[in-house]
Amino acid sequence: MADVDLPSPIRGILLDAGLETEAPPERRIFTNRDLNLERIGLIGFDMDYTLAIYRQDALERVSIEATVDKLIGRGYPEALRTAEHDPRFAIRGLTVDKQLGNVIKMDRHGYVGRAYHGRRVLASEERRAVYREQRLGHEHERFAPVDTLFALPEVTLYAVVVDMLDEHPELFSARDKPSYAEVYQDVRECIDASHQDGSIKDLIKANPERYIERDPDLPKTLHKFRSAGKRLFLLTNSYFPYSDAVMSYLLGGEPSYPDWTAYFDWIVVGSKKPGFFTRSEPFQELDRSGKRIGAPRQDVQRGKLYEGGNHSALQASFDAYGDEVLYIGDHIYGDIVRSKKSSGWRTALVVQELHQEIAVRRARGMTLREISSLHRLRSEIAEKISVQRHLMRALGRIEPGDVAASGDMDVAEATEMLDATKVRIKGRFDRLRRYEQETTDTLERRSQEVDEAFNPYWGSSFAERHDTSRFGSQVEAFACIYTSRVSNLQFISPSRYFMSPHGSLPHWL
Ligand SMILES: [Mg+2]
Repeated sequence: MADVDLPSPIRGILLDAGLETEAPPERRIFTNRDLNLERIGLIGFDMDYTLAIYRQDALERVSIEATVDKLIGRGYPEALRTAEHDPRFAIRGLTVDKQLGNVIKMDRHGYVGRAYHGRRVLASEERRAVYREQRLGHEHERFAPVDTLFALPEVTLYAVVVDMLDEHPELFSARDKPSYAEVYQDVRECIDASHQDGSIKDLIKANPERYIERDPDLPKTLHKFRSAGKRLFLLTNSYFPYSDAVMSYLLGGEPSYPDWTAYFDWIVVGSKKPGFFTRSEPFQELDRSGKRIGAPRQDVQRGKLYEGGNHSALQASFDAYGDEVLYIGDHIYGDIVRSKKSSGWRTALVVQELHQEIAVRRARGMTLREISSLHRLRSEIAEKISVQRHLMRALGRIEPGDVAASGDMDVAEATEMLDATKVRIKGRFDRLRRYEQETTDTLERRSQEVDEAFNPYWGSSFAERHDTSRFGSQVEAFACIYTSRVSNLQFISPSRYFMSPHGSLPHWL
């Protein structure tokens, strides 16, 4: 049955009344684990990439420019300034192999499905030769996970420098030629420095509209939850002056709220997550201009503004159980894994990439269905081939004499029977092999088509070949619910019961 398309004035009235309406597909909320909003009394928000949706292209451009400046200051080639970089090269969920200068994408089992050295794709033999025996993910010295959108420019830039190092080593004469691992370290440090010294943040503060999307649905979404009796808090690693500028831009100018701070019962800036959840740093109270007032303390009060702090003191101030708190963030580890493990908070992950992911899945729905049936077909053929192969080997070991004895016939007759059977089985085997090859070819072609649409280098962030990607499996394992942006909550009732789809194993037909 087709959904009724509500005219927007009517939809607006229903939304304002807190009633649920059908969200556009790109803005739906997806459930991994049951979550009853009726039982949630507090909702916390991270700021960067959660409340504030950055314009990734513009932010990457300035991040790379600021970082290149600093790298050149460290003796890296001037040519970096004019080197081309494709922002599509980096996506969340990749892993950098610092030792070899590679960027890789893994499936949920840690199998490396794609790899680039610099920006040169590794052919499958080359990739398997390097990563076949390698169990990935735990050697922090060698591998760096790319788990926030903030980290994308460093991947793009790392690949550019690796290529330059391979193709034009002479450009590095101003300094000792760095190893791939040193390049990574330098890029990291320079990008961190650009974040810390204000090179990037000052630009954003001066022109927020250029770097951050102002989502008109955000203030009303927060208002809706406040009206339903939920208490809201902000918990961000950004410090006050920057948070103040960004939040004023996002939530300022609403008639019923004097300023953005009025939306929140607690505000914690400079929180140093993930350490916030495990350590016991004191809170420092700030006044509305960001000036420190009073001594550091271990207790907090509602309605005040704090810097630093720790989870247990904040939780004590909530006067609620951990599972009555929903925390919404974009960082799998810093926001979601840590808060869930250390505090028992329920979690919602903001994945802005979902918007494009869902748009592509909808546009290519038919091809994706074809891919999944071709995949099932291929595994069925492979099973049959394996049976025939086993049969051929067994036939090869049978002597005509044995057949003659078993069938009460002479040896010439038995030989003929045995040979004819072998020919028949071989014929079937060859037909199956050809069928398998055709299926594989079509599957490859179709997969390539949709991969192009997701991302020409890496395909979908959430999938790798025919399985969930490492990133996809983390989203599934750690986030109770996930969605493309905070304001998607406007489409649901504040007492919504999110029910997870029934888990399944391959044999649960
Ligand atoms: Mg964030």
